[in-house]
Amino acid sequence: DVLCIGDLDVDMFISVPAIPGFDQKIAGENHGQMPGGMSANCAVAVARLGLASRLVAAVGSDASGSFAVEKIRADGVDVDHLIHRENTNTFMCVVLISPSGEKSLIKLETEAYLPYANELTDDAFAGVRHVHLTFGRPELAHKALTMARVKGITTSLDLEPPDIARNPKLLRSILPLIDTLFLNAEAYAMATSALGETLLPAHLHERGEILMTLGALGCRRLFGEDRLDQPGFAVDALDTTGAGDCFAGAYLAARLEGLEPQDAMILANGAAALATTGIGAQTAMPLRRDVDAFVAR
Ligand code: ADP
Repeated sequence: DVLCIGDLDVDMFISVPAIPGFDQKIAGENHGQMPGGMSANCAVAVARLGLASRLVAAVGSDASGSFAVEKIRADGVDVDHLIHRENTNTFMCVVLISPSGEKSLIKLETEAYLPYANELTDDAFAGVRHVHLTFGRPELAHKALTMARVKGITTSLDLEPPDIARNPKLLRSILPLIDTLFLNAEAYAMATSALGETLLPAHLHERGEILMTLGALGCRRLFGEDRLDQPGFAVDALDTTGAGDCFAGAYLAARLEGLEPQDAMILANGAAALATTGIGAQTAMPLRRDVDAFVAR
């Protein structure tokens, strides 16, 4: 049903009492390595919610790459179209987690960071109803979104602040290719300033929608002239890594199942809230029945 295109990495999670400054030494607690990457996280969220999910991402030839692929495969994600790069390490992130669950990330990008635009094949789109991606590499995003549009497949993009900072001028050309735009409040403000005007659904493909995540406060949907806020669920958040990815995957899965936007927002808030209750992006990502039970409380 859903094809996620973008990044797969291995995250190393370390709890720290505070983020160390230069020349400072602190003791951390290592929670081990787990697969991550925005696109891979979203693919896992979709699979756990019960829809068919496929990932197109690059992976290195190291042991951590094999480990990540096996984990994701075990979650039911179709990994047959992953792009394997020889003689390179898999993209890695060191995630420092504060006592309040906030995180700081160190990204170690490698040759296996993202697919190249010319590595996308028609095969990967076979049987797909929706394509979700991250901006990462603009040529890749353009190519993937254009291929989807030509094939009549709906699209979504998760827009991150660093992507906007790197490509402020490219937003205008990419937005009209997108049906559903996911971003947080910081990215929304940055996109508005990059565009020189308020970011609106009118910038997207016809009848497009903007889903803004607001952390513990929940989410907001902009559609046409409408604005709908849906409060988040109260949980003891341990680690918010991957919450936005889980939100996107759950929202897409719910909409593809035929749920109305507000019901999809409730389900996505519930899934993402549960995902923050364990350390690691994918560790606490819930199954459909867990989300249903949680939101029905
Ligand atoms: P990002 O990490 O991409 O900035 P957010 O922090 O906005 O994304 O989180 C995405 C979604 O995860 C939110 O819309 C909300 O549903 C859920 N969420 C995040 N943090 C919490 C929290 N502390 N408590 C409950 N839900 C949360």
